[in-house]
Amino acid sequence: MHAAADGGLARVRLPGGAVTRRGLDALAVASRELGDGFLELTSRANVQIRGLADGAEEELSARLSDAGLLPSATHERVRNILGSVLTGRDGGGLVDVRPVVAALDAGLCADPGLAELPGRFLFAVDDGRGDAIALRADVGLYAVAPDVFALVLAGKDSGLRAAPEDAAGLALDAARAFLRVRTSEWRVAELGRELPLSGEREAEPVAVPAVPRRPPLGEIPQRDGRTAFSGLVPLGRLDPAGLSAAGEIIVTPWRGVVVPGLTDMPHFPGLVTGPDWAGLTSCAGRPGCAKSLTDVRADAARARRAGGGLPVHWSGCERQCGRPADRHVAVVATPGGYEVRLGGEVRARPGDLTATAAAAATTRRSE
Ligand code: SF4
Repeated sequence: MHAAADGGLARVRLPGGAVTRRGLDALAVASRELGDGFLELTSRANVQIRGLADGAEEELSARLSDAGLLPSATHERVRNILGSVLTGRDGGGLVDVRPVVAALDAGLCADPGLAELPGRFLFAVDDGRGDAIALRADVGLYAVAPDVFALVLAGKDSGLRAAPEDAAGLALDAARAFLRVRTSEWRVAELGRELPLSGEREAEPVAVPAVPRRPPLGEIPQRDGRTAFSGLVPLGRLDPAGLSAAGEIIVTPWRGVVVPGLTDMPHFPGLVTGPDWAGLTSCAGRPGCAKSLTDVRADAARARRAGGGLPVHWSGCERQCGRPADRHVAVVATPGGYEVRLGGEVRARPGDLTATAAAAATTRRSE
């Protein structure tokens, strides 16, 4: 649990973004009874509970453990595993990676040494569609054929290959190799050298997508004749009461939720599919974060526009928490007002919120 301006903040890791009905009930009740009643979605497809009282961690841990959401107290911080969101559901992708995600999580928790991985270290398992692998994981498994995964390190093909049953083991070997050679680095990309891994390497590396293919919004046909519903959670603040008709959910790294396995199409209050919310994210801002210069969520909601283009992320200060890994427009609060930036370069210093909205809309369509 971290301290925030609005109380304790607990992050709950969800490998592959998957949450069962039981898990969702546990999160909803825990947030309602111990926190502020909402679940905050993160850019790593995890959830956060805010507004926790001092000493709430024991009660929260017990509840999460009972629901299967805290399988290892020692490894919780390092269970950062993204997976292709619709894998095994919609017929996209080359292979269903859910068993690989589960094997990777189990193998990670079973190795005491891997608890030493930095909390920022990220795994991704992509079924070949290019959603998860483009999110700059330290260690990625990218399906290049139904029975072959490429090991991708910091976004680059290592040349090493594994069958699905060996893929989790290869990823864990790479994580161990990182621990052996790191000094103060938190991410593989910071090492500036290759990880010492043995094995035969492919001569021709595969191109790894740099821009994630996000799942579509709205109704998505599944292979089994049922339907999934894909919606965005405005600015990542989810009221779990709106998901009472869901049997399970998949949290996406884009502050969205997919509800799979539907035979009819109930309404999910709180999930939106409109173009004005697409690609729009923000940090927590005021009142939750003491560092924030403004109520950035309220400003982002008021300034939202339809129109497409690059993702736009609003931040209450220079830290820019939760910003997308891929190229995006950054709207950053400064003591002099918002700045609109692209690739770190300031594109506009608008005077008010209306002008900020216009500058962000223009910048996101500029390439
Ligand atoms: S970006 Fe700044 S204001 Fe926003 S949550 Fe992070 S520290 Fe707080």
